[in-house]
Amino acid sequence: MEPKPEVITLKNNFKCLFIPIKGIKIIQFSLFLRIGEDNEPYDNPSKYEIAHLLEHLFGFFTSNKYPKGKQNLKKIENLGIDSGAEVMSTYTKYYLRGLVDYSEYMIDLLCNCYKNFKIDRSIVSQEKMAVVEELNDILNNTWINIKHKNDKILFPKHARSITQNDKKKNVPNIKLKDIMEFYNKHYNNHNTVLTICGDLNTKIIKNINESFGKIVFKGNPVEYPILKRNYKYQVAYVPNKRTNATNLFIFFRINLKPYDSNVSLYKFISTLLSYGLQSILNRTLRIEKGLIYSIVTDIDTSQSDENMGYFIFNTTAEYNKIPKVLYEIFKILTDFKKNNRNKVDIERVKNIYNLEFQSSVINKQPDNFTDLYSFFILWNKKIVSLKQKLQNLMKITSKDIKTLSNEIFLKENMVITYSGKKNITEEIHKVVDKFF
Ligand SMILES: [Zn+2]
Repeated sequence: MEPKPEVITLKNNFKCLFIPIKGIKIIQFSLFLRIGEDNEPYDNPSKYEIAHLLEHLFGFFTSNKYPKGKQNLKKIENLGIDSGAEVMSTYTKYYLRGLVDYSEYMIDLLCNCYKNFKIDRSIVSQEKMAVVEELNDILNNTWINIKHKNDKILFPKHARSITQNDKKKNVPNIKLKDIMEFYNKHYNNHNTVLTICGDLNTKIIKNINESFGKIVFKGNPVEYPILKRNYKYQVAYVPNKRTNATNLFIFFRINLKPYDSNVSLYKFISTLLSYGLQSILNRTLRIEKGLIYSIVTDIDTSQSDENMGYFIFNTTAEYNKIPKVLYEIFKILTDFKKNNRNKVDIERVKNIYNLEFQSSVINKQPDNFTDLYSFFILWNKKIVSLKQKLQNLMKITSKDIKTLSNEIFLKENMVITYSGKKNITEEIHKVVDKFF
């Protein structure tokens, strides 16, 4: 059965999300902040990677009461508690998951760190190192240059287009005072949700009220940078001598946020196109035509700005096959715009979503449900249960797909980028002109 999540606002307006799962003897406390790497200002390189380094340091749960990071982690592990931290573009998450018996300690550790975070100076240089190594990993990717180019075209002058090189350059220079300033400015009740998922009891609820419920309300809601995006069709080439393959991206601009009600339909179209070998693109491009190994489609959206959405196609092939690959993709998209999908394809996608629903509901791990529901609350949306989500997906018709395809797959929405040994922009334009 799917749990029944409940939002509770404490006396001081601090927002909590309770997700009870009876009888599992485990509980997870997670802090979600709608603060991420997008909040590092694009025009101030001395602030790059601050959100990330703060996430690393905060992950040791240090505060005035618990100032020693390594000792904190030792005690956490000795109690069998699992802890974690992650930062993405628009959010940061910290969690502690352990046996219900250790709830009081977990709440105290987390609450003290949240309200009185104190940097443990003895771990700073090791964590700066760790951040640099993470960036090195990304920089070592064969396709890093096209990734940077894509970001520059899709998110001009926005934090998303800061390169990993520029981020890396600043890490050794980050000042502790700037990290504390970022924390003081953004880690406040406006931007935070505490999710408690698992074997809830009245003692835990009392503890939460007496700890998080007493934090003095301060600060302001975070403001995200607004993207001014390019609105023109373009093709961009990024030379890459390191490989014989050519990496191809097609982006279509969409106006969408991840928790909008029509997201289901976008996802449905993406699944129809590329999920599994029997998906329309994979069976055509790989099985029938033998042009590629695999192709992925995805919806990229941002919680902060509907103007940052993209419907993405990505594949690799030999450069002389790229025009043919594009031809086949555009042929399929044209068909999506003109004709109805066949029943077998629609049913295949519905079966995939049905299976996904059944698997999610039997997964009683607190982390599963924590992630499923918390973001709705963080972004002031009403929770859509897994069951409702499935019902929305099951209602999708061939007509819906056709209508939306006609809105998305247009030349004026399109950006094509590719990277490889050879410039084939002229051939690409020719294929585009045949269809649009
Ligand atoms: Zn990291």
